[in-house]
Order: sequence, then C-alpha cells, then structure tokens
Amino acid sequence: MNSRAERIRAIKARKPFKAWDIVLIAALVLASALLWALSIGGQGAVAHVYRDGKLLREISLQTDGEYTVYSADGSGSNVISVKDGRLSVSEANCDDQICVHYGAIGLKNQTIICLPHGITIVIVDGDPWDIDIET
Ligand SMILES: [Zn+2]
Repeated sequence: MNSRAERIRAIKARKPFKAWDIVLIAALVLASALLWALSIGGQGAVAHVYRDGKLLREISLQTDGEYTVYSADGSGSNVISVKDGRLSVSEANCDDQICVHYGAIGLKNQTIICLPHGITIVIVDGDPWDIDIET
C-alpha cells in the first residue's frame, strides 16, 4: 500500500518534472541567446546623440574619435570622445559638468545627459530585436 502509493507518486512526479526540464532547457537556451545578443552589442554599438529630444547624430563606437556637438543656440559645446568602444564627454562648457563627470559608457541603453545643453547620448545597437526606449 505504502510502496504502491509511493510508486504512483513517483510516476506522477516524473512526468511534470520532464516537462519542467524542457521548459528549463528552453529558458536556458533563450537566456544564453539573450546574453549572446547583449554581448555583441559592443560590436555594432552606436551612440545616438539627441538634442532637445531630436536625433542630432549617430556615432559609431567601433572607431575611436572625437566629436563636438553644440546646444541649439550654438553657445554650448560638448566634446564626445570614443575610445576602445566606450564613449565619454571629455569636455563641455556647461555649468554643472555632470556630463563630463559621468565617465565612460559602453553598454546598450546607457545614457549621458547634459541638461544645460539639452544633449542626451544613448548607446544603441543595430540588433533587429532592439527595443527602442525612446518610444
Ligand atoms: Zn554638461
């Protein structure tokens, strides 16, 4: 009686466990695919530079360089530096210098904002599954 009940329980327990296994494996595959997609973010990554909410320019993180962007009235400037796949604001004539002190960013969806100049820099990539956080 006791062993029979145990056997039934074992059989009952086996099936959902296997189904759960498949779910787990699927989840693992999905997770690794996601990780892979995230890891290639550094390869095709670009930075979108917005001024007052409008896309001003796109900067590739694949090539080192320096780019200067200006505030809408032209009086404010931000020097954007790209080095080793990371981007930073190396120089700016804004009052708070928050954008300069922010440091380097290089991961998708990381953002540097220069509020006085109305400049927003967001890291994006060319992945077709890319979720546009602006919308
Ligand atoms: Zn600033």
